[in-house]
Amino acid sequence: MNIAIASGKGGTGKTTIAVSLAYFLATSGQSVQYIDCDVEEPNGHLFLKPKIESRKTAYVMVPKIIEEKCTFCGECSSKCQYNALVSLPDIPPLVFPGLCHGCGLCVHICPENAIIEAKREVGFIEEGTGIEGIACIHGILNVGEVMAVPLIRQVKEGSLESRVHIIDAPPGTACPLVATISDADIVVMVTEPTPFGLHDLSIAVAVAEKLEIPLGLVINREREQFQPLEKYIDDHGMEILARIPEDRRIAEHYSRGEIIIEALPELRPLFSDLAINIGKAFGKSVIGV
Ligand code: SF4
Ligand code: SF4
Repeated sequence: MNIAIASGKGGTGKTTIAVSLAYFLATSGQSVQYIDCDVEEPNGHLFLKPKIESRKTAYVMVPKIIEEKCTFCGECSSKCQYNALVSLPDIPPLVFPGLCHGCGLCVHICPENAIIEAKREVGFIEEGTGIEGIACIHGILNVGEVMAVPLIRQVKEGSLESRVHIIDAPPGTACPLVATISDADIVVMVTEPTPFGLHDLSIAVAVAEKLEIPLGLVINREREQFQPLEKYIDDHGMEILARIPEDRRIAEHYSRGEIIIEALPELRPLFSDLAINIGKAFGKSVIGV
């Protein structure tokens, strides 16, 4: 089962929720894997503290032109959707590796077999076992690298069978989010009850709806109900999976790298409700025992 934890914007408490849910499920008898797809800034491991057992470099395949074979026909550059190849008169196409998505199309369509693939390093992937036996995997994108999607795909390829997957999605609503949640069974959207939170939530919800993925909502840091958000939820017939109250102690424990329901056991029932509500939305319990 793939449970993606997402948010339209950063700073909503997405990782706090994701880590606590993983911890709750693991301490309830479930086998859990934490898949951190927030490859620009993964931080689930700061809380789950995995002992890293493997580390591998991640690559994307980019085209390399064999100049002697190229007839400058321009076929490859005209077909590349990402403008990673640019044709100029009487010279082989220029390659812009930073724009290449590694789709391999140009290699296949070159009539002269003048394109081969070469590896380009984009980051690395680490795996290990964290507290309560939670299997952890995360990717770390190289500084200045823009190609998050290929790395996210490779991180997801490390998912283990027979485990509940808690997938920490990158913030925002662009391609990295789509790549992360595209095969999720349910998306848990974490939002905060503010105008900014509602604005970004509405965009993220539109993405999930377009992908036809079931979704539920966690309202985090709630002091009192924010009526525009409540109206939005009503209008969209959305399910509220949990409401987490504003509590300064949560921020304090977070800043120390502590899992909030371990540090504040009185919050455990909130995550029990969250797990039960996810199970109801999915039609199958996610709690092991
Ligand atoms: S398709 Fe092949 S032959 Fe044509 S410009 Fe590209 S690399 Fe050269
Ligand atoms: S591999 Fe795909 S994205 Fe990269 S240059 Fe070729 S056609 Fe463009």
